[in-house]
Amino acid sequence: MSNSAEQDPRRGLMLVISSPSGAGKTTLARMLMKEFEDVVLSVSATTREARPNEKDGVDYHFRTEEDFRKMIAGREFLEWAKVFDRYYGTPRADTVAQLEAGNDVLFDVDWQGADALHDQMPNDCVSVFVLPPSIEALEQRLAAREGSSPEMVARRMRDAQAEILHWRRYDYCIVNDDLQVAYEKLRRILLVERTKRLREHNLEDHVRRLLGEL
Ligand code: ADP
Repeated sequence: MSNSAEQDPRRGLMLVISSPSGAGKTTLARMLMKEFEDVVLSVSATTREARPNEKDGVDYHFRTEEDFRKMIAGREFLEWAKVFDRYYGTPRADTVAQLEAGNDVLFDVDWQGADALHDQMPNDCVSVFVLPPSIEALEQRLAAREGSSPEMVARRMRDAQAEILHWRRYDYCIVNDDLQVAYEKLRRILLVERTKRLREHNLEDHVRRLLGEL
C-alpha cells in the first residue's frame, strides 16, 4: 500500500501525567516506556547539583543559574518553576524535535506544569491524572516506598489534597487500584490519541489525492 496515509509518519504527542505523590504515575510511566520504544521521557533542565549517579542530558540538563536565566529570557522553556531556590524547566526545542520525529514525550508534572504545557502546546497535549483508590491506600503506598519517613508521608498526604482538587483539568483520570487494569487504560489512551486527525501528518495530501486534486 504505497502512498497510503496509514503508513505516513505521525506527529508525536505530549502525554502529561500528574498525580498526588504515591498514586503510581512513575510506575505507570515506566511500564509505558518499556512497552513502547517511541515513548520518551522529557528531560528537564535544572540548576540543582547533579547527584553522583545522575548524568547530564539523561537525568537532567544541569545548568548554572546564569544560563538558566538566559534560557528564560530567550523563551526557551515550555514551562519552568522555581522550587526552594532551584530552577526546573522543560526546554522547548527538545520536545518539538521529538514530536516531529514521531516520538511521544512523557511529562511527569504537577497541575501547574500541566496547565503551562497545555497553554504552550494545546494541540499536542493529552493529560492524564492518576488517582489512588483510597486515601488509606495512598498513605500505605507512600509509607512503603523506599526511603520514606513519617514526616515525609504526612507532608505528602497534605500536598495530595491540594493536587487532587485539580482533577477536572485533565482529559483523562485513571484510578490506580489494580495496576494492570490502570496500565491497560493508560496504553489505550495513548493508542487512541495517536490516531487523532491532527496528528496524521499527511492526511491532507491523502484526501486531496482521493478527491483528484493531486
Ligand atoms: P508516584 O510516581 O505517583 O509518586 P509511584 O509510581 O512511585 O508513585 O508509586 C508509589 C508506590 O506505590 C510504589 O511503591 C509502587 O510500587 C506502588 N504502586 C503503584 N501502583 C500500585 C498499585 N496499583 N497497587 C499497589 N501498589 C502500587
